[in-house]
Amino acid sequence: MAIALMKLPYAADALSPVISAETLQFHHGRHHQAYVDKTNALIEKGSLAKADLETIIRTAAQDGNVKLYNQAAQVWNHGFYWMSLTPGATQPSADLADRIADNFGSLDQFLDQLATIATDHFGSGWAWLMADGKGGLSITTTHDADCPVVGASIPLLTIDVWEHAYYLDRKNDRKGYVKAVLSERINWAFAADNLDRNAIWTYPG
Ligand code: MN
Repeated sequence: MAIALMKLPYAADALSPVISAETLQFHHGRHHQAYVDKTNALIEKGSLAKADLETIIRTAAQDGNVKLYNQAAQVWNHGFYWMSLTPGATQPSADLADRIADNFGSLDQFLDQLATIATDHFGSGWAWLMADGKGGLSITTTHDADCPVVGASIPLLTIDVWEHAYYLDRKNDRKGYVKAVLSERINWAFAADNLDRNAIWTYPG
């Protein structure tokens, strides 16, 4: 079972103008596809050839196989990112909004904090809303390919802050990209699903 390129859960132009069809087509069709192809090339003759993506990521991390870990983690991170976005502006469910208010003061304070942390993250990486399974929520960033599949917390949402996520549309304006995504394209239903499931999302395979 080779790892597949996950289909986008919406049309390539569905996130425009926040994220253009051109950006999404490149990001999904070139970047995400390349991580899939490289992962498959690295596993095809080994013991992980038929493993699911989460097993590949965890095994590569345990074995110190950085080359495989980076590619496989990026496959997973991008799948999770496509799910974290949705056409049109949505709002968190009442339960999730309460949880966010308990942890961050208010939804607006949370969005401001996440925008700042995502914008200020040095270099390539990801900004995440994480749940600890005991009611606590936190914002974290990971560098390069680093992926929450190898951690204990449950990711609820992510924003890709690699330049390839916004450069075609906005050049170096990461702040504008992050703010527009946070106010207009967050898939709050996906965040609530992850919180309710209380388990790390699995990449479709
Ligand atoms: Mn990316």
